[in-house]
Amino acid sequence: MTFKNIPEIFGEAVFNETVMRERLPKEVYESLMRSIRSGSTIDPTIADVVANEMKDWAVEKGATHFTHWFQPLTGVTAEKHDAFISPVSGGKIAMEFSGKELIKGESDASSFPTGGLRATFEARGYTAWDPASYAFVKDGTLFIPTAFCSYTGEALDAKTPLIRSMDALNKQALRILRLFGDTTCEHVDNTIGAEQEYFIIDKKLYDARPDLLFAGRTLFGFSAPKGQELEDHYFGSLKTRIAAYMADLDESLWRLGINAKTKHNEAAPAQHELAPIYATTNIAVDQNLLTMEYMKKVAERHGLVCLLHEKPYAGVNGSGKHNNWSLSAGGKNLLDPGKTPQENVQFLLILAAIVKAVDDYQDLMRLSVAYAGNDHRLGAGEAPPAIISIFLGEELDAIIDSIVEGTDYKGAKAPMMNLGIPSIPVFRKDTTDRNRTSPFAFTGNKFEFRMPGASQNVAMPNTVLNTAVAESFRLFADELEGAKDFHAALSELLRRTFRDHKRILFDGNGYSEEWKQEAKRRGLLNLENSVEAYKTFLADKNIELFARHGVMNRVEMQSREEIYFENYAKVINIEALTMIEMASRSYIPAVEAYIGDLSKTLKTKLTVCPDASCKTEKTLIETLSAWNDEAFDALENLKTLTSSAASNADVKKRAEDFCYRVIPAMKRLRVAVDQMESLTSSDRWPFPSYSELMFKI
Ligand code: ADP
Ligand code: MG
Repeated sequence: MTFKNIPEIFGEAVFNETVMRERLPKEVYESLMRSIRSGSTIDPTIADVVANEMKDWAVEKGATHFTHWFQPLTGVTAEKHDAFISPVSGGKIAMEFSGKELIKGESDASSFPTGGLRATFEARGYTAWDPASYAFVKDGTLFIPTAFCSYTGEALDAKTPLIRSMDALNKQALRILRLFGDTTCEHVDNTIGAEQEYFIIDKKLYDARPDLLFAGRTLFGFSAPKGQELEDHYFGSLKTRIAAYMADLDESLWRLGINAKTKHNEAAPAQHELAPIYATTNIAVDQNLLTMEYMKKVAERHGLVCLLHEKPYAGVNGSGKHNNWSLSAGGKNLLDPGKTPQENVQFLLILAAIVKAVDDYQDLMRLSVAYAGNDHRLGAGEAPPAIISIFLGEELDAIIDSIVEGTDYKGAKAPMMNLGIPSIPVFRKDTTDRNRTSPFAFTGNKFEFRMPGASQNVAMPNTVLNTAVAESFRLFADELEGAKDFHAALSELLRRTFRDHKRILFDGNGYSEEWKQEAKRRGLLNLENSVEAYKTFLADKNIELFARHGVMNRVEMQSREEIYFENYAKVINIEALTMIEMASRSYIPAVEAYIGDLSKTLKTKLTVCPDASCKTEKTLIETLSAWNDEAFDALENLKTLTSSAASNADVKKRAEDFCYRVIPAMKRLRVAVDQMESLTSSDRWPFPSYSELMFKI
């Protein structure tokens, strides 16, 4: 491999702070940075200058076009490329890009999901520049990260509510910091690091499987003799082909200024993970979307395909995206317990706010990770259950117990605090204890939300988390700002909050059956599938939450609810239709043909040796005929239920039908086909097997 100067190539395709400082006039640069840091609007008089410099820089990098890059509610990103060219006299052109074009784009929104938000006669949508997320050049185009709204200003994307939630969180968190005497901090930043899991498969094998092509996951497939039981893949040495792919991927991401940091093999065969260094959330989300795009694109260069689906294969682990979440003020991590009693108490108040937020808005947390693909993971004993709970670790649990009960904390390693809270010692959270089964775990100086799925945009989980925590902060600040005796009020607030929300804390085995029972006793929600989660979205308390913090209004939420149900129904419909096609045109005829082979053999055998028992042929013919009849019946049943589900005019009913009637019918068909696969000659089998898909790489 040729030597690459990584510091030199890092961020070379990005119009980042360094480039801006170098290229923009000083006043323009400073004005832009002020707007970015404070989240205020850009002074329109500087926009032309910024746009022109951006264009010159991009053209030097080989760009001919620009695009507003946005995140419609399809789950993937969207782009429409415009050339910089502008006609000048003499039949010539000039390369131009104005401030107006940079700040605002107008695009036909009618083909993106809007959940009925925008009447069809008003099809215009607007994209608006998000200057905090740097523009970049990719494949000859200047990409400008933007938010996407309807003509009347309603958010039609994932990014807008996320940015609004970061603003709300900042506003309320600052009130908390002020209570502890911080008068200088100007902005509380929300940071995330998204650990991205994925599968790799050979392109030729992928192309041979219609289910992977249409649904992103295998809908049939008899288990390979070997799965992940030997635990030999996790952190195992990288295969040459995979190592080359990962190196290429890292380099591509580094050029785009993405801090791809760690890479390793995951639990399942051909499963891997990439983790970046954390960043401010709106930027980290953009970067994660780019990472996913490049994972796929770079794979193609290596004759591979990257699968981001949550459950490409039955029987082995699926892929998630652990969302590490924290708050930072002036570079200081607010989820770091700190070194002094003062810092410890502030930390405990922030912790209490998070505990309360997650308990009060369990439904929204669950909803934020609810979609058809992720239903295969949650609660399946490989990823957190569908029940939301928080893991804090032994030490914090003991401290919370002592606060609730007003007793001395036994594990004290240092003097007690003297802040009106009787029993809290100085503590440093040790990060050794881990609970991999918890959906939301404290890992020393951040929370790790482990429910998000590999393919999803994590904007919504963070929008929910930020807004819910902002709400706790608001209530706490309202109470404490007016208190006569701050420390007494703080002590009382902590005690009450931890007492009232203790039910959400759980550090046992989240995969166990007992936890389901226990959670039920505690009154925690167990929303077992996406459809049940969607039904909670428009509860009054949720509408109030988002409205109060200016994150989403009722209309925006209603449109999203419709898109949730609609998208769910569409995904299952595609899966069902793919199964119908594969079974009727390939599996059933293949088994018929094999039965034909066997029958011919049987006949020939009996001609040659009339006394032969022909046990093998007879048994196989009999068993396969029975399974093929069952497959045929299951297929007919699936056809009927799928078309009946699809014909529901009501979107909620449609999703329910797909969930409760079509999915069981899909499972029934799969059982029959997988059984036949185990009995049929591999020569006769129409598609590559699990063994090939997972192990031939
Ligand atoms: P582990 O999952 O073993 O805890 P790391 O400690 O390396 O692994 O962190 C995992 C992810 O958490 C990384 O993407 C990392 O950048 C991110 N992370 C670390 N600190 C923070 C933070 N303060 N805010 C958000 N994410 C963070
Ligand atoms: Mg992790």
